Amino acid sequence: MTSPDYDIIIVGTGPAGLGAAFHLTELAPSRSILMVDREKICSGGLLNDCKQNYTYPIGFSDDNWTREEAERLLSQVEKCLQPAIKEKHNLEVYQRRAERLGVTLLDVRQAHVGTDRSRALIQRLLAELESRGMQFLLEREVTDVYDNANGAGVVIAGTETVRARKVVVAPGRKGFSFLQQVMERLGIAYIDNVVDVGIRVETTANNYPIVNDYYDPKFLFPDRVRTFCTNSGHARVVLERYQGFSLVNGHALSTAHAGNNLVNFALLKTIGLKDPVRSGQQMAVFLGRLANEIGGGMPLMQRVGDFRMGKRSTAETFNEDLYAFPPSCPVTAGDLGLAVPAKIMRHIWAALKKLDTIVPGVLHPSTVMYYPEIKMYANKPAFLDGHFRVSGNIYMVGDGAGTSRGITGAWASGIRAAEGILQGS
Ligand SMILES: Cc1cc2nc3c(=O)[nH]c(=O)nc-3n(C[C@H](O)[C@H](O)[C@H](O)COP(=O)(O)OP(=O)(O)OC[C@H]3O[C@@H](n4cnc5c(N)ncnc54)[C@H](O)[C@@H]3O)c2cc1C
Repeated sequence: MTSPDYDIIIVGTGPAGLGAAFHLTELAPSRSILMVDREKICSGGLLNDCKQNYTYPIGFSDDNWTREEAERLLSQVEKCLQPAIKEKHNLEVYQRRAERLGVTLLDVRQAHVGTDRSRALIQRLLAELESRGMQFLLEREVTDVYDNANGAGVVIAGTETVRARKVVVAPGRKGFSFLQQVMERLGIAYIDNVVDVGIRVETTANNYPIVNDYYDPKFLFPDRVRTFCTNSGHARVVLERYQGFSLVNGHALSTAHAGNNLVNFALLKTIGLKDPVRSGQQMAVFLGRLANEIGGGMPLMQRVGDFRMGKRSTAETFNEDLYAFPPSCPVTAGDLGLAVPAKIMRHIWAALKKLDTIVPGVLHPSTVMYYPEIKMYANKPAFLDGHFRVSGNIYMVGDGAGTSRGITGAWASGIRAAEGILQGS
């Protein structure tokens, strides 16, 4: 066996990779570690918006985590990210209203950095790692990961091979296909049978005033529908490009910026697929393409007023008369009913009506519903142990491997892999 170039290679500088990196450099400072990322700066939620949730189960996949395990590691995540936790007000009032309708409002400890300030946070984290001796290879894509009789390592840009004793693979949601290819080549079994499908709602802050009391209120509705990623202050809906189609998402700037009086949040329904349809990824691609086809190459948007009347929205719907605000992400005005599967739309609409009873105003006719917002992070390898090891020397963590659904859960997943490496798992 040839001697490795590094003790450990970490693929991905997102929160999962950083979680592993901070833990390893703190507890085993003499080990040589290389972090590789295809971008100059990590491209996921740490850079976009950077809302941090410090309460289980937000951001954790429940089949890999217990409350105790998550809480043990969340305190370590907090030490590195040093969040300014936001205050909440009137929680009991909203919780009482929710309970009457069979809805749960979770009490979650939250912090928000904002897209304009997240870069400085990431740079602080990378500088800290550099001062501990971490090496970086940025703007270089890992094209393969191997683990054979000669040891483990990664292939960069299809040509350069870098060897290591252990490899932590944390490529995030956008690394979904890369991870699947690696797993197939290494013969690692995986399942991909869960997908979240839903809409992004945009309205004025006056129509959703709960955001003045609770930054990102987490409502759990019947039929596995939930609110997700609420943005306010200076908030915008944005497009995310995937394999030939666009999905919607949202983000907000920090409180240093003047507000634009808009709020956006996702309402997502979790779908567990069963035989014979098993791939959440394939379903997401199918739904995403259908919506973009109907939207002439873009997602769709519809005003609540039109939806209620059973009419499609048109360019004229978005005038300044009745509808006081222009959409922050003008996509194709149309009819969600043509694109969203009926059962998903029914459950989301039922949830919206309950939400409008808990926070009256959100179903104002001017409210915009964007589609599709889809989360495809359920690419779960068959883990060999509780440290997310998938073969002799390889660990897979973060949203891409289905061990998390958010920044803090991803960071905690990275710590668990690092603990495995240090214990020689
Ligand atoms: C627009 C947007 C906003 C979001 N906002 C929030 C939020 O406010 N709060 C929250 O908790 N979550 C948010 N999320 C979700 C959040 O991004 C993820 O939960 C979290 O970042 C997952 O961490 P990760 O380390 O698994 O992956 P990522 O953060 O996606 O990091 C993976 C890294 O791996 C790199 N990479 C991928 N493939 C390769 C390869 N082949 N070679 C080399 N490098 C590679 C990528 O460039 C990336 O930097 C948001 C996501 C998006 C897209």
